[in-house]
Amino acid sequence: MEFDVEKIRKDFPALSERTNGGNTLIYFDNAASAQKPLSVLEAVSNFYRHDYSNIHRSAHDLSMRATAAYENARKKVLGFFSAPPGFEAVFTRGTTESLNLIAQSWAQSNLRRGDEILLTEMEHHANIVPWQIAAQKTGAKISVAKILPDGSLNIEDFKEKLSGKTKIVSIAHASNVLGTVNPVKLLSGLAHSAGALVSIDAAQSSPHMLDNLSDIGADFYSVSSHKCFGPTGCGALIARRDLLDAMPPYQCGGDMIENVSWEGTTFRKSPERFEAGTPNIAGAIGFAAALDYLKNLDAAAAGKHEKNLLIRLSDGISSIGGTRIYGNAQGKLPIVSFNLSGAHPNDISALLNAGGIAIRTGHHCAEPLMETLGIRGTCRASLAFYNTKEEVDIFVEKLAHAAKILA
Ligand code: PMP
Repeated sequence: MEFDVEKIRKDFPALSERTNGGNTLIYFDNAASAQKPLSVLEAVSNFYRHDYSNIHRSAHDLSMRATAAYENARKKVLGFFSAPPGFEAVFTRGTTESLNLIAQSWAQSNLRRGDEILLTEMEHHANIVPWQIAAQKTGAKISVAKILPDGSLNIEDFKEKLSGKTKIVSIAHASNVLGTVNPVKLLSGLAHSAGALVSIDAAQSSPHMLDNLSDIGADFYSVSSHKCFGPTGCGALIARRDLLDAMPPYQCGGDMIENVSWEGTTFRKSPERFEAGTPNIAGAIGFAAALDYLKNLDAAAAGKHEKNLLIRLSDGISSIGGTRIYGNAQGKLPIVSFNLSGAHPNDISALLNAGGIAIRTGHHCAEPLMETLGIRGTCRASLAFYNTKEEVDIFVEKLAHAAKILA
């Protein structure tokens, strides 16, 4: 069945927004954050209008309604990502907090001198810096699997770096710069055979509906609501309950304790153990509404539409003299990082912005990857299922125009 993108676009009010000079917005910054469908805006608004209260605390009707909605959102997160039995979803601020939670709570209480943490060259800072701090505190060492020239992971190097010393492998399911989709099921199997735990940074793969946790078989998964068309300030760490329950609390306060006395405190099991204080209740409810929206999409048709757009966009950019694209691995996401010889990415972005086009420029929170690529930054155009081929054509035309001006 044909993917009806015009119908889909009506669900996203921001896509009709006018920007600089009255141009209709062309939003190609989806890898940074995605726009929100009406169903998400309504779920959040309805919650605040009708059911709003704090959760887990009071016996009044509104609190019970809010608690039920929040716990229902948790079930939806587990269901959407096909979490296997024995997994739990902890609501966090997003992928960054989820990864920090693993690196602070699990790593700092389990790693010792001589242990290794295996990452890859394509990681986002959120999947590097928390591990650096854990390594400094525990004496563990970080090793880094290399990438190949097409931007895919060098599996042989990954295998070489993996050993009995590796206690955890933490990898992006998909790169926010190169668009590379890593073979996480394979890598997870290899890591488990070596006796290591596996953490998947699913920030980029989740909006493209690539995460089936039962199939991938890792131990920790980190996701952000705002990349999946939900509200900001919310996300989840989906993880094995036995691991979570053996981990020390990460932040302490209300709602995560069993008993507190001056003599000492006992803690609840997961997920509450890791949700100290009043959580982002509306965020969780909006996140669940976003996942419902995605569930109702034809994922195969949306994926095909995105692939067609990616080919059109990559071909269009390549047809402009002096451009270079970083990352062309098979099966990559619709994320195109590129440079134009002699032009600063910010100048390209400024010219595109004048024509209503939103892209991102810079190091994309992946400075070690920039070092590998031998560059300081790129322009990045990142697409979602609501983008159109007409938008891609306008983008290519305006980029060609910018290239002439900056030549
Ligand atoms: N990992 C990757 C691969 C990302 O692209 C991002 C967001 N740019 C993050 C982690 C961090 O996500 P958040 O800012 O939502 O916490």
